[in-house]
Amino acid sequence: MRKPILIANWKMNGSLHANQALLVRLLTKIRPYRKAMDMAVCPPFPYLFQVRDLLGYTGLALGAQNASPAASGAHTGEVSATMLREMGCRYVLIGHSERRSMYHESSDDVAARFRQVRSAGMTPILCVGETLEEREQGRAMAAIEMQLQTVIDENGMAGLRDGIIAYEPVWAIGTGRTASPAQVSETHRAVRQFLEFQEAGGGEALRIVYGGSVKAGNAAELFQLPDVDGGLIGGASLQADEFADIASALA
Ligand code: 13P
Repeated sequence: MRKPILIANWKMNGSLHANQALLVRLLTKIRPYRKAMDMAVCPPFPYLFQVRDLLGYTGLALGAQNASPAASGAHTGEVSATMLREMGCRYVLIGHSERRSMYHESSDDVAARFRQVRSAGMTPILCVGETLEEREQGRAMAAIEMQLQTVIDENGMAGLRDGIIAYEPVWAIGTGRTASPAQVSETHRAVRQFLEFQEAGGGEALRIVYGGSVKAGNAAELFQLPDVDGGLIGGASLQADEFADIASALA
């Protein structure tokens, strides 16, 4: 059985004051759902220490939003996976579409970042997803397969199996436009079949979560789909009550 997981991606939001207020309220509100799922919070790098302290022994895990493809050295502005591990991170988002598009992270780059996170003993959350153009041209699954394949080439299926996959259609991120349950269901199933084809049992074992304009109002219909193992939440993770309602839909 795949345990559901709910991940908060704060993106580049927050402040010392706002983080504290958000987490104090969130930790109270989500208490009833804690045991039903894994949960992680991914703040911006400077707040990792603060969030680690606030999460304390609540069972919520700490995550980061990216890690360098290099182990150490002359890489100004980068943060290594071992540093994140040392800070207490258990998860690291890898290959988020905002990184791929705005910061030109190539698939090879993403594969190398995945490897660093895994070798540092953390769980990479690999984000994949098609652009609107790719979907309209019927190339959605081809684009996703290519993103998965590069990571498999670099890390093997054994490597990928240590991670979590987040399906985030680029056109649904921060747009208020959610993929329909039919689209999510079809894509998650196709990803699972693709992985199963790579290695028998590989597809069944992996957790695949959905991300892209998930809110309290649409979470239930997405989370009840058989191949959806949870959510990666952006905007709605910045509101404690909304996030708790999303958690209740997954519980
Ligand atoms: P939104 O929930 O704001 O659409 O963002 C989704 C996302 O990119 C999570 O990583």
